Amino acid sequence: TKVGIDAGGTLIKIAYLKNDKVELVKFPSSQMSFTVSWLHEKFPAARFCVTGGKSDVLQRHLQLSVLKMAEFEATCKGVLFLLQETEDMPQEFVLTNVGTGTSVHIVRPDGHFRIGGTGVGGGTLLGLSRLLTEVSDYDDIVRLAPQGVRDRVDLKVSHIYEGSEPPISGDLTASNFGNITGISSGIETPDYLASVIGLVGETVTTVSVHAAMQHGLSAIVYIGSSFIGNEALAKVVADYTILRGAHPLLLKNGEYSGAIGALLSI
Ligand code: ADP
Repeated sequence: TKVGIDAGGTLIKIAYLKNDKVELVKFPSSQMSFTVSWLHEKFPAARFCVTGGKSDVLQRHLQLSVLKMAEFEATCKGVLFLLQETEDMPQEFVLTNVGTGTSVHIVRPDGHFRIGGTGVGGGTLLGLSRLLTEVSDYDDIVRLAPQGVRDRVDLKVSHIYEGSEPPISGDLTASNFGNITGISSGIETPDYLASVIGLVGETVTTVSVHAAMQHGLSAIVYIGSSFIGNEALAKVVADYTILRGAHPLLLKNGEYSGAIGALLSI
C-alpha cells in the first residue's frame, strides 16, 4: 500500500489507494499520537510519503523511514490531479491555499512558483471568532456564520456614499469592521462570525486577484481546509473574485492536494 500524508499546522490530511480508488481522511494535528497509532494499525506494511510543516514531527512519531516531499511541490501535483476531474480545467492559474495561513502560487504548464501569501487564513478565522464571540469550535463557526448579517459590522462603499452614485461598486467593503462605532448594540454572534469570514475571504481574494493581474492570469483556484463545510467563506471568495474581474474555481477535496501529491510521488 502507498500512503500520502500532509501534516499541516492544524490538520493532518491522508490519501491512500483502496481498490484503485483514492481514499481521503483527516485528523487534527493536535492528535498526533492517535493518528500515528491509526496509521500503524491500518497500514502495517505501507510505503509513506510525507509533506507539510509537521513532517518531521510525524516521522519521529512514526519511527519508520519515509519519503519526504516539499510542500508546494506536493500541493501543485495534487491540484493538477484533482483538476483533471473538473470541466474546463484552466491551463494556467493562480493557486491560493487557505490553510492555517494563506499561500499563493503561480501555476503554468512549464512549472510553478510561490509568489507570496498572507498570514490571514483559517487560523485567523478560528482566532478572531473565538476572541469576538467565544465560539471556538470550527463546526459551530461555519454553522452559525451563514445566519449573520455583515452590514452591522462592516462598512460598505454604499454606506459612505449614502444614496449618491459611488465611483466604484457600492457592494465593495470600504472597511472591514469599520461600521462599529461607539457602543455597538444589536450585533449578534452570527454577525461577528460572518464578518470575520468576510475579512478572511476578502483578504485572500484581494491578494489572489492582484497576483493574477500581475501575471496576466484570470483563473484562480482556491483550496485549503478553511473551505470545509464553510459555505459562507466559499460564497465571499467566489463572489468577490468575480466582482474583481477574475474567475474563481473552488476545488472539490482541494484540502487534500498535498496528501494526494505525496501519494502520487511514491
Ligand atoms: P494546515 O495544512 O496549515 O493544517 P489546512 O488546509 O488543513 O491547513 O487548514 C486549516 C484550517 O482549516 C483551520 O485553520 C480551520 O480554519 C479550518 N478547519 C477545517 N476543519 C477543521 C477542523 N475540524 N478543526 C480545525 N480547523 C478546521
